[in-house]
Amino acid sequence: MHASLHPWASTSWTEASASLFEPDSEHRSAESFADEEGADDRNVDPAWMDVVHPAGTFIVMHLDSVSPGWRKVAARSIVKMLAVAAGSPERRRCIATMRVCSTSTELCFSAGDGCHADNVLSGIWRKARGTARTICKDCGRLARVRLIGEDESVTQCTKCVAPALLQHEIWELCQSVRFLKAVGRPIVKSQIPPLLRASFINTAVASLDANAEGNTQMLPAQFVRWAEGWRLIGEGLKVRH
Ligand SMILES: [Zn+2]
Repeated sequence: MHASLHPWASTSWTEASASLFEPDSEHRSAESFADEEGADDRNVDPAWMDVVHPAGTFIVMHLDSVSPGWRKVAARSIVKMLAVAAGSPERRRCIATMRVCSTSTELCFSAGDGCHADNVLSGIWRKARGTARTICKDCGRLARVRLIGEDESVTQCTKCVAPALLQHEIWELCQSVRFLKAVGRPIVKSQIPPLLRASFINTAVASLDANAEGNTQMLPAQFVRWAEGWRLIGEGLKVRH
C-alpha cells in the first residue's frame, strides 16, 4: 500500500512530518535503510517502513487504532522513530512490530511480542502520549483531559466534548426525576445540573411558577414534562468517546 493513494496521507501532515528531518536526511530511500539492516531484519515484515511515506502508510494500516485527531501526532512520532532507527536493527525490529492504540484519553505505542523498546524509542512514545493529551482525539484542536461524570474521562476540545457532557447531565436529570416527583415540593435551580439550568429558568419564567424575587421554581408536574423533553433530546445526541 502506498500512502500517496490516500489524499489525507499525502498532504499537510506528511509535509509537516518531513520538516522534522534535517535536509540531508529527509529523503532517505528504502534501499538505504535496507542496506543498513542486513540479514537480522528478515524475520519481521517491515514493508510499511520502506515505502516513500512510511508514517502515512502506518497510520492508514491502523486507522481503527489511532483516533482521527491524533493521526498527525502519531505520524510525527513515527518519523522520529525511523530517524533514530537508522543503523540500529534492534530499534528497527521494535518499530516494525510495535503496537498502537487509542484510549479515550491517550495515544499509546507499545512493543510487540519479543521486542523491547530502549530508552530512545520509549521516550518518543512517552512524548507522543503526552502531546496527545493536549490535542482533541476527534478533531485535532487544542484540548485537555476532561472528566465526564465521576469515572469517565476523555481528551477532547470544548466543542467535541459538549455532547457527552450534555448527555451526562441529561442522564443525571433523569435519575433525579423520580425522587423529586415523589418529594412533591417545587423544584429549584440548584437541583438542576448546570448545563440545563438556563433551559430550566426560561421554562419556569414562562410559567406562573416564577415568583417576584426571581427565585425560579417549577412544580413537579411541569418539571416532569420539561425533563421528558430533555430525555428525548439526549436520546438523539451523537456522542463520540
Ligand atoms: Zn475536538
